[in-house]
Amino acid sequence: MQENKTIPSTEITIKKYYEKCGHTIKETNEIDDKYVNLTQEEFTEKYFKDNPKYKLESFSPQEIVVTESINASCGKHYLVTEENGKILLYKIDDSNKKVFYKDTGLTTEYLTDEDIKALDAGIRANGDDELNSVLENFVS
Ligand SMILES: [Zn+2]
Repeated sequence: MQENKTIPSTEITIKKYYEKCGHTIKETNEIDDKYVNLTQEEFTEKYFKDNPKYKLESFSPQEIVVTESINASCGKHYLVTEENGKILLYKIDDSNKKVFYKDTGLTTEYLTDEDIKALDAGIRANGDDELNSVLENFVS
């Protein structure tokens, strides 16, 4: 039987659950050398001693998933919009206020009327992955 131990290619996925907005943001990291070649029991003891806020969700040599509950909002609530032909990014803060974040450097020049209409209304995106997939649609 193969031993169920961490290996140098084990990935550690951290799922951060933000209580105030209900979003979960996933982040995957390579395993630190000091956690390699450990059984679940050994890993749990060592890792959670170093990271007491995390809880173990699953353990395998390929991937370890840990979770953390955070009493805050994720702070990654974006609004993609258009002004004078430029595609701009705003963040929506906790009190639902629109705060200018940055100019994406993209323009609406080659976009369809439909896309421009959607941008005029503003497109919401939560988290960086969602934001990137929204922006990908506007790269010509
Ligand atoms: Zn959120």
